[in-house]
This record gives sequence, structure tokens and C-alpha cells, in this order.
Amino acid sequence: MALRLPPPDGTAMLPAGTFAGQTVMVTGGGTGLGKGMAKEFARLGAKLAIVSRKPEHLEAGVSAIRGIGGEAEAFACDIRDADRVTAVFDEIEQALGPVSVLINNAAGNFPVPAEQMSPNAWRTVVDIVLNGTFNCSHEFGARRLAAGEGGAILNIGATYAWTGGPGTSHSAAAKAGVTNLTQSLAVEWAGDDIRVNCIAPGRFPHHDLPAHMTKHREDESADDTIPGGRVGLVRELGWAATYLCSPYAAYITGHTLVVDAANWLRRSLVMPEFVPIREQFGTDASKAAVKKARGDRK
Ligand code: NAP
Repeated sequence: MALRLPPPDGTAMLPAGTFAGQTVMVTGGGTGLGKGMAKEFARLGAKLAIVSRKPEHLEAGVSAIRGIGGEAEAFACDIRDADRVTAVFDEIEQALGPVSVLINNAAGNFPVPAEQMSPNAWRTVVDIVLNGTFNCSHEFGARRLAAGEGGAILNIGATYAWTGGPGTSHSAAAKAGVTNLTQSLAVEWAGDDIRVNCIAPGRFPHHDLPAHMTKHREDESADDTIPGGRVGLVRELGWAATYLCSPYAAYITGHTLVVDAANWLRRSLVMPEFVPIREQFGTDASKAAVKKARGDRK
């Protein structure tokens, strides 16, 4: 048994035109979950600003939106660069109008045991996930406050913000920062009608993920490692995202919504044997690093 499948792709959850006339900026909107969420906003009438670095991703995001009859433009930007973020908000404003909904979805991640993680690897992931989210939120907030207009920010977090993420300590620490930033900004801007929420997705495989990040490549896969018995479908995240940014969620701010079929809450009555993360990686490099860390040269 598994959790039932949701309504089919393309089903509308909110009234048509819920985001009509609004400009929604999605960082990392050309791939995976960002592209999926962008499509749901487009279906509800939003104009989409797809923001990321690589031309092929920007192109994919824009074509996905136009393919369902929506309006979208691409904007090249590395969100680590605060000056470029400011310039991109100007460009979007000129092309599509002021951004009223910001989806901080872009991220970088790669599994590596902590003792093998270079300072540069740490810095890169924290810079994209945490600093990039702040750069975009700061620019968005400053503009909405100056204009006297409300708006909505949705951050994409992860449940290892609360549990830690052995093997992905850089991303887990950065996502913990994003979850915390969600709460700070929600309080700072609530009186100005700017809401800030977060979604912590569970396992949502998609075709844009590199092979090492998932065993599943297809939608609707059964997964007996998840209490709900199946992986998440990208449209399920799209519905959650559009709801949280819509007027129907006008009293919800500072909240992190977990969409994961109870995966992060799982506990076993009889605990399985503990396998250290470096053994789970099991590479020669891991073993060499562990030996070095222990001072064991044999
Ligand atoms: P993805 O396909 O790898 O997408 C990441 C996106 O971020 C790419 O479009 C990439 O585009 C963009 N990006 C990376 N660095 C950037 C930078 N410096 N500036 C601007 N854009 C940048 O990942 P995903 O699986 O869709 O995940 C989307 C979000 O959900 C992430 O925040 C992730 O942590 C979270 N999440 C995903 C899952 C899952 O199961 N998929 C689970 C939990 C949480 P460019 O390369 O073109 O810049």
C-alpha cells in the first residue's frame, strides 16, 4: 500500500487567474522542481521570470512555460553575486513588471563526507543556498517596501535542516540557515504584507537530477524506504507552492511546510545497525581520508 496518487498533471487547484498580472521570479526555474513550480504559477496566470546561470537551463524553463501557453522570460544570473541580483530585478521589472512573488529554489549540493570536503566546496554550497537566498530576498524586500506593496517569498528548504545531513553537511547547514531566515524575515515584514514561507520537500526525483542524486528517474515510482510508499510528484510541490504564495494563505507566514509523506519523522522500534557515513560512501578515497584523520598509515 502507498499514499494515493494525486490528481493528474495540469489539474487546477486554485481558481483560474489567481496570479493574473503578477510577476513570479523562480531561481533555478529551468530545471526540476523550480521548473515544475514555475509551470503551476503560469497555469494560474502569472508571468514567469526564470533566473539561473546556464543558457540551456534558462531555455528549458522558458520553453516549458511557453509550451503550456504561459508567458516567461529568461534572466541569466548567479545569485551569489548581489550586484548582479540587483541588476536582474531591474531587467525583470522592465520586461515583465515588478516581481511580487519570489521563489528561492536554486541550490547546489553534492554528497561528500565532511573530512573530505574542501573549504571551497563548503563555501560554494553555503554561498548559493544561504547567501543567494538572502541576496534575492533582500532585493525583493527592499523594492516591495519602497513601493508600499505586499508580496510573497517562498524558500525551498529541506528536512535535514532539523536533523542534520550526514554526507551533505554543507547543504544541511545552509538549509538550516534558510529555514531560520524564513522566520526572521516573516516577522520583520509581516506588517508590510510581505509573507515569507518555506517548503521542505521529501524525495522528489526528476529527469534533471544527476544520476548520483537519485535511484529513481521516473514519476510515480514506488519507494519502500518512504513511509508513504512512493516518491513525491513535482506537481504536488507546485500546488503547495502556489497555495502558500496565494491570497488563500494570507494569514500564513514564517511557516515551513513539509511535503514528504512522513519520511523525516520515521523511527524504528528495532533500530537497524548504524553504518557510518564514510562506510556508506565506501570509496578508496574515503578510506584513505579516514586513515589520515586517525593518523593510521597502515
Ligand atoms: P536542480 O534540478 O539541481 O536545480 C537547481 C537549480 O539551481 C538549477 O536550475 C541551477 O541552474 C540553479 N542554480 C544553481 N546554482 C545557481 C546559482 N549560483 N545561481 C543561480 N541559479 C543557480 O535541483 P532540484 O532537485 O530541482 O531542487 C530544487 C530545490 O529543491 C533545491 O533547493 C533543493 O535543495 C530542494 N530539494 C530538492 C529535493 C529533491 O528531491 N529534488 C529534495 C529536497 C530539497 P543553473 O545551473 O542554470 O544555474
